[in-house]
Amino acid sequence: MGRVYNFSAGPAVLPEEVLKEAADEMLDYKGTGMSVMEMSHRSKAYEEIIKTAEQDLRDLMNIPDNYKVLFLQGGASQQFAMIPMNLMKNKVADYIITGQWAKKAYQEAQIYGKANAIASSADKTFSYIPDCSDLPISEDADYVYICENNTIYGTKFKTLPNTKGKTLVADVSSCFLSEPVDVTKYGVIYGGVQKNVGPAGVVIVIIREDLITEDTLPGTPTMLKYKVHADNGSLYNTPPAYGIYICGKVFKWLKKMGGLEVMKQRNEEKAKILYDFLDESKMFKGTVRKEDRSLMNVPFVTGDEELDAKFVKEAKAAGFENLKGHRTVGGMRASIYNAMPKEGVEALVEFMKKFEAENTK
Ligand SMILES: *Cc1c(COP(=O)(O)O)cnc(C)c1O
Repeated sequence: MGRVYNFSAGPAVLPEEVLKEAADEMLDYKGTGMSVMEMSHRSKAYEEIIKTAEQDLRDLMNIPDNYKVLFLQGGASQQFAMIPMNLMKNKVADYIITGQWAKKAYQEAQIYGKANAIASSADKTFSYIPDCSDLPISEDADYVYICENNTIYGTKFKTLPNTKGKTLVADVSSCFLSEPVDVTKYGVIYGGVQKNVGPAGVVIVIIREDLITEDTLPGTPTMLKYKVHADNGSLYNTPPAYGIYICGKVFKWLKKMGGLEVMKQRNEEKAKILYDFLDESKMFKGTVRKEDRSLMNVPFVTGDEELDAKFVKEAKAAGFENLKGHRTVGGMRASIYNAMPKEGVEALVEFMKKFEAENTK
């Protein structure tokens, strides 16, 4: 069997070119006689890999010199704790709740200090982004937290919240490198890479230098201090070495594709194909308010659970994998990350049209 069109929300599709290159280098990485998996993270060859990966990410995102790039472990979920442990100097932070991941981060922060939910879209099953132009930001808030792209619900902040001068912290796991970003607007940008960048096991944290201090909450483990990782160039202990190597290859691929401006155009084009169809279809409906639609995760329903299940089953048989919606939402979700080709989205829409015709009386 050949490769399928994989619409998984994560771990998710990676560029075929990257996978082939990794396969070619599997047994002998550039004449070292070993796989990257087998080499010391202190070796010359690996040093080159991690340094190049960081530089390419800096180039892609135009990351200013006063920001550190950290390659860490523990997934995005580990950051739910690491952020308050390192940033809560006043033990106060404001959270905008736009879905399950934001909610989990908010709940975790409550362990360490006073986390305030200053806005939420829970009233309409997180199908929109609340107006964040004039929120009741706490005077002593150490930061304002958002989940910028909501993987499960398919919403995205098109405008960043007005934090009234407070540090903005953003989980960008599912929109990482999908479009250009103005890094200077954030104190911390972080994401697990298994959605849009690489294999599970790596989380990338881009953090403004002045936020990296010795002054962490009492009891913060060494491994959860940003300063420890920053001072050691992400090599305090053994990093997720192979995963970082694959991320580096994806960065090279993105550069070759033309960078994030080009990715944005491609992603807009792909998303439009699917959203336009959802808007005209009599059977399939998008579940998100139009102006808040994500370019990466597209949830949709037929309004009939049995029909949804039939669709997912038949789609799978036709080579469209992982279209079942998140277990808490139901329906369908097509994740169309950077590495999903336009042809994949076009083929999906053709399949949906056919399904609609066959299942309409
Ligand atoms: C998947 C996801 C997470 C959780 O990532 P883990 O690496 O499994 O901890 C957090 N935030 C967002 C936005 C996600 O999509």
